[in-house]
Formats: sequence, C-alpha cells, structure tokens
Amino acid sequence: MGQMPLPASANHPSSLHEIGTAHDLSVASSKPHPYNGRSHSLIPPFAFLSVSGKRYQTLSRNKRLLMKIANHSVVEINYTLKDAEGTVIDSSEGGQPLKYLQGVGNIIPGLEKEMLDKSAGDKFSVVIAPEEAYGPQNPELIQTLPSSAFGGVEKLEVGMAFRAQSTEGHPIEVEIIDVDGDQVTINGNHPLAGVELHFEVEVVSVREATPEEIDHGHVH
Ligand code: ZN
Repeated sequence: MGQMPLPASANHPSSLHEIGTAHDLSVASSKPHPYNGRSHSLIPPFAFLSVSGKRYQTLSRNKRLLMKIANHSVVEINYTLKDAEGTVIDSSEGGQPLKYLQGVGNIIPGLEKEMLDKSAGDKFSVVIAPEEAYGPQNPELIQTLPSSAFGGVEKLEVGMAFRAQSTEGHPIEVEIIDVDGDQVTINGNHPLAGVELHFEVEVVSVREATPEEIDHGHVH
C-alpha cells in the first residue's frame, strides 16, 4: 500500500477553522476588545482578529498613525514645485514643512484634491493644470500704458510691481513686463497664471484640526 497523502485539511489548513477552536476562542473572549473594552463577538468571521491580540493592537496603532487626509485635517507637507521646463518655482527644502488646513481652500484646488486619502509618509508627484491652480492668463490684464500713467516714478524697469485697480475696482498687483520708450506694458495676472505646476510632495504629518482652527479656517 502506498503512502496515504495527507488529508487536504492538513495540507491546506483554513486559518479560520484552525483558529476557531474552543480553546482559542475562550482565550480570546477573556480579553477586552482593544477598541471598546467589551468582550468581542465570537462570530466566526471575526474570530481570527481576537486570537492574535497583539497583532490586532499593532494594526490599530498603525491605523491611528496612518490617519488619512480628509476635510479638516491639519496636514504638513514637504514639497518642490517646478514648471514644465523643470525650473524650481518654490520648495519647502531647507525650511519648515508647509502646514495647511484641508478642505477650505488654503492650497490650490488641484493639489487639495490630490491630497485626499493620503497618509503620513506618502510621497507622490502630480501635474496640475492652470485651471486647477492659478487659472489661465487673462489677456485683458496685460496692457500697454504711457509712462506718465506711473505717477512720477523716474525709472520704469521690467520686474517692477505696482498696485493698481481693475476695471471692476478690485486692487490688483501688476508687474512691468516690457518697457519700449514711453510705452510700458504691465501684466496684472498672478505670476503663476497659465503655468502648469509640477509638484513633488511628501506628507509629513496628519492630524485632526481643533474646533478653533476649523472656525478660523487656518492652522494654529
Ligand atoms: Zn486663527
């Protein structure tokens, strides 16, 4: 007679069946549930959670550490922002991480959307179109004016910034982008309007905001 193959159940033990013995369950049921302090259910599908109590606690601790970003999370990130040509526009490198309140428009919409469900330690790259960042360039905000419009400033140079008023009466900042004799061209668009933003982001920490932070709409 040839050797009998091992019973299938020994070769391929079902973890639920193996763990669900009377002994294991009684050990498990004597321990308080790590979450609510009550003995927990011995309904078979959940029995495996209680048998390795240590492992369960480790999981719940990790879960707390790895809180996912949601509305009203206070988030710290390290980031580098480049344009499409790879020129660095801004970076937190060498300084403090950026701290912001999620879900209230503290950061540009495209990045805020991308942050949802990320956790501390996550690193990612994302490309954000101008429409989800500082908007497209508005050609009406680029105008050529006579230098006399600049009220007594002697030397007008490219890069100089002035406060002006939009036709709707809003204060805007304009920058000289060209000087041609007496003709001065200014741009009232945000410097990053029309710019595709290339972010590299590392999530440093995530916590819940305090009621006061939510009330104020910013991180304290
Ligand atoms: Zn405040």
